[in-house]
Amino acid sequence: MRFWGSFHDDRSRETVLARLLSVLFLSTVIAGCATTAPMSPTSEELSQAVKPPAVPDVFESEEFIVVMAKPGDNPQSLAARFLGAAGKSWMIEEYNGAASFSPGQQVVIPRRYWKLAGVDPTGYQLVPVLCYHNIAPQAKGRLTIAVKTFEEQMRYLKNEGYRVLNFAEFYEFLSLKRQLPQRAVLLTFDDGYKSFLQYAYPILKEFGFTATLFVYTDYVGTGRNALSWPELKKLAQEGFQIEAHTKSHSDLRRASGESENDYLRRMKAELDQPRSLFERNLGSVPRMLAYPFGAQDDEVARRVRDTGYSAAFTVRRQGNASFVDPFRIHRSQIYSDMSLDDFLRNLTLFSREDLK
Ligand SMILES: [Zn+2]
Repeated sequence: MRFWGSFHDDRSRETVLARLLSVLFLSTVIAGCATTAPMSPTSEELSQAVKPPAVPDVFESEEFIVVMAKPGDNPQSLAARFLGAAGKSWMIEEYNGAASFSPGQQVVIPRRYWKLAGVDPTGYQLVPVLCYHNIAPQAKGRLTIAVKTFEEQMRYLKNEGYRVLNFAEFYEFLSLKRQLPQRAVLLTFDDGYKSFLQYAYPILKEFGFTATLFVYTDYVGTGRNALSWPELKKLAQEGFQIEAHTKSHSDLRRASGESENDYLRRMKAELDQPRSLFERNLGSVPRMLAYPFGAQDDEVARRVRDTGYSAAFTVRRQGNASFVDPFRIHRSQIYSDMSLDDFLRNLTLFSREDLK
């Protein structure tokens, strides 16, 4: 079964492979010829001399390693052996357009990323960023999702081979410094509800997923439904990303009739205060901001950038190309009344365009 579309068409990959193999084979033969034979060969050496040269089972160049799959080899074991991490198995799967190999099959292992921006002649990759709020035993309103629904969605991602990104991976993709697996998704949770720890955390742990939390600082530590700073710090230490969602969760756009002075003062509080509170309580300033209600305009985006944030998130329902405006990263809100089919509609992974 073919899980992954391959980047190169088979013909062009075979041409590259054939050239690579011929160069590697020639260099092996030349190196072999340079060895001078001893004056008096032993009988063992003589018998070896008439054998055809052994074909090495691993070919290497700066860009690629080419191996013949042995019984039991799979993308994970090959990635662990040749790329230093089983988690890089997607590079082998996607480059070869296959998720398993039969013994004797030639496998090309790319040593480097080959598609940093996620762009190829047929279009470009989209990375969905999903946005959750509250989770409870039963759904309530649009933004409190039932824990069973959440678990079903996470199980779907796991079973279908999605890789849940950590924030650094996503950000490096936007900076054109990292290639991502074709099925890559970022999970985010807004506001800072305690239910993240009670309901989402155990499920994420079960599937080996991580997430980014956007918290507004007026809410942190305000009661039994809110996460506290020590809880956020512990989550951060476990690799969850904690980022800003303003101070009071107000719409950052200038209100009608709001004076210049009042607006400047309000924006300073909304954008600056999370930075000092994060630094005091978590030991680092937030680099990202989620706009409350996704509401922003050019002025808001500019002020967020000028305050020192590196990126900001809206709630526009579409995936992100690597060249998305970093101050208008799209997120798809997942509502409590969505069926699994509705959920899947938020997982568009590629935008087909004729870029030739
Ligand atoms: Zn919010």
